[in-house]
Amino acid sequence: MCWAGFAYLALASVATSLFGTNAPVWFANAFGVTVLLRHPGRSWAVFLIVFWLGDALALRLFGDGPSLLLALCDTFEMLVLAALTRRLCGPNPSFLNGRQAGIMLLAFLAVPALSSGAGAALLHWTEGAGFLDAWRIWYCASVLGLLVATPVLLGWSTATTRRRALDMLTPARAIAVIAAMAGAMFVVLQDAHPALVFLSFPIVMVTASSFGLVGVTAGVVAVSLAALGSVLSGSGALVAIVGSGNSMEQRVALVQLYLVTVLFSSLPIAMLLGQQRQLAADLRSAGEARSDFLAAMSHEIRTPMTGVLGMIDLLAAEQLPPTHRRWVEAMRASGRHLLSVINDILDFSRIESGRLELEAIDYSLPDLLEQVRSLVHPLAVERGLALDVELQPHSPPVLKGDPTRVTQVLMNLVSNAVKFTHHGGVTIAVRQVEDEEDAAQRLRYEVRDTGVGIAGAQLDHLFEAFTQEDRSISRRYGGSGLGLAICKRLVEAMEGRIGVESRVGVGSCFWFELPLVPGDVEALEQPRRAEARVVEPRRILIAEDVDINRQILAARLGSQGHELVFAEDGAQALARVQQQPFDLVFMDVQMPVMDGVEATRRIRRLPGPEKDIPIVALTANVMARERDRYLGAGMNDCLMKPIEWDQLDAAIVRYGQRGAATAPLAAMAAPTAAPAEVTLLDAETLEGLRAMMGDEQLRALVRSGLATYLASCDALAGTPSATEIHAQMHKVKGSAGTLGLGAVMRMAAGIEAGLDESTDVRRELEELRACIAATRRELEGKGLA
Ligand code: ADP
Repeated sequence: MCWAGFAYLALASVATSLFGTNAPVWFANAFGVTVLLRHPGRSWAVFLIVFWLGDALALRLFGDGPSLLLALCDTFEMLVLAALTRRLCGPNPSFLNGRQAGIMLLAFLAVPALSSGAGAALLHWTEGAGFLDAWRIWYCASVLGLLVATPVLLGWSTATTRRRALDMLTPARAIAVIAAMAGAMFVVLQDAHPALVFLSFPIVMVTASSFGLVGVTAGVVAVSLAALGSVLSGSGALVAIVGSGNSMEQRVALVQLYLVTVLFSSLPIAMLLGQQRQLAADLRSAGEARSDFLAAMSHEIRTPMTGVLGMIDLLAAEQLPPTHRRWVEAMRASGRHLLSVINDILDFSRIESGRLELEAIDYSLPDLLEQVRSLVHPLAVERGLALDVELQPHSPPVLKGDPTRVTQVLMNLVSNAVKFTHHGGVTIAVRQVEDEEDAAQRLRYEVRDTGVGIAGAQLDHLFEAFTQEDRSISRRYGGSGLGLAICKRLVEAMEGRIGVESRVGVGSCFWFELPLVPGDVEALEQPRRAEARVVEPRRILIAEDVDINRQILAARLGSQGHELVFAEDGAQALARVQQQPFDLVFMDVQMPVMDGVEATRRIRRLPGPEKDIPIVALTANVMARERDRYLGAGMNDCLMKPIEWDQLDAAIVRYGQRGAATAPLAAMAAPTAAPAEVTLLDAETLEGLRAMMGDEQLRALVRSGLATYLASCDALAGTPSATEIHAQMHKVKGSAGTLGLGAVMRMAAGIEAGLDESTDVRRELEELRACIAATRRELEGKGLA
């Protein structure tokens, strides 16, 4: 409030000290009105008193007449203007709104007529001044001040307009504004050629229209300063028009007339352009909102879809009658199609809203082509098509760029080619070309097919969103009509070009060219040599009751540098989570004291942030309804035992941080299929473990594992209850699977699963013992037991 009072005092003092009571322009009231409009009505009284005192002080110091009463006229004017504007234009009046601007202009012309009338009358009575002259000067000064300064001040005091104006003000623009402003001042002050005054009009208009609010402000300040300066000094082009011998009043009147004409010729242009810019910004943000909506929607749909597909995968892994299997396969195909459409929409909206981030990493071109080929190969074989890759000899083997996006584009084109080709084949050809325009080296990818071809009329719109030749295509071939639109945007984002040549019945050639940026062969080789997947170290809590499983996890995860804490049951896990922060919990489900599902439920009910910690189940239960139960209890995902290390790494990458994604991974949901060939040992798992921990440690693990399995069999001597058998066999199943002891795992699983059919468990346990013995012999033969 104080600063506003001082600012008003300063403005009033400058005007009265320079011109006395006859100031040609009175900016102080424009400032006062803006301050009032930007504050709630209840604080107006205080502001008005402060302005009144400031005004009176300035008049007492530098002017003539009854200062308190004269200042009261200004206070009255500000109050009436602010009240009228607020009532008629609402809480946020703006000159960019045509109706509001009209109302304010009318008010600015009408209200000062009253206040200046009162002021002129006071001056007439006390100072003997001519009423009409005093009124005219006061009125013009007031109106001019309001008209010149209020739009600018209102603009600057609106946060969004101010931000936008400042955003526009790059150094180059600032220099341009200052240059234009200096030009306007020079023109006005040049006394040799009075006619040059007219040149200031285009200068101010150009500044106003090119630089919006900043331009209007600069133009108005420049012209006002120059005009007032020339009046005071008695020289300059303006004064030359009236003739230097003329009185101060005449000069003031001319300056006023000049300022009014300059202002009224530039302000509407600035306002119109401002409105247009606003409209363009609104359109832009409407487009962004649409893309945001699409992105959010497709994301929301994708999350449950991943769940649905995961469940379908689980269902497909069950023993099903042939009809049901056909239904499940149909569900799977439709689900995947829906997911690919949603992914396309998500991708497209991401690109449209400018959220596409491109990588610049080294990648191997032959590997990328091989990846695309191997992905599409099964489909090509199924359709009886040849699929060839031709890479020009001596092409740079390593490139720098975004391999994911290049693969995406190529996959799209190759899949389309396979989809629309019935005989013959598809060729992916890559060669180096020189750009005709800038002679730069580019890499040209061509996808040629001998398929149905595309009619000329359609070629023009092929890369637009949602284009398919006709509706029947989406029914016959699937697709959303977004694929090529995404390709075009991706290629253009990578500073490339995309196109097509095609003849109906002969075939098509889709091509794209990207700038050729050779990569660093060494940089690519190093990480490859180090490790396939880089998993960042995390703090992980592992709740697992079986000692062997804990040891294996410790060996594998410890070697990746993770910080591990173990809990042997759910209750311990719950306590650990409350004691220290973790990035991720791997939770076994069946554990003594408190099981993993109950522990998860309790963690999710904790008051602190630890309640949101990602929890991934590690379980040997592959039943779909069990998985549902885990997710229902609040687990984020579920990994099957025997543990697939790739999946474990993927889970750590995906969930191993706070606020990580909570959608289950469809790929992880799929249970690992039983090995086709029945052997005692799962050689691949064992080899993996051997490579990871070395012979000695593996031997110790295997020995202790076999001993515990026998102990489990011993524990079930006599007449064990179903629960006891289930608990022991479940343990054996999980740990034997992880150790690669396939036969033991399958047998334990069989005993566990056949429980409710009241089989003779004793005989089965004998068989299990025999199997354990056979496994031991086989392992001894391999030097592992
Ligand atoms: P979608 O995602 O539906 O496949 P695209 O944008 O990839 O959409 O393709 C749009 C349309 O372009 C297709 O529906 C098809 O009519 C046509 N098209 C694309 N590639 C080929 C091709 N290799 N041969 C013939 N027609 C094609």
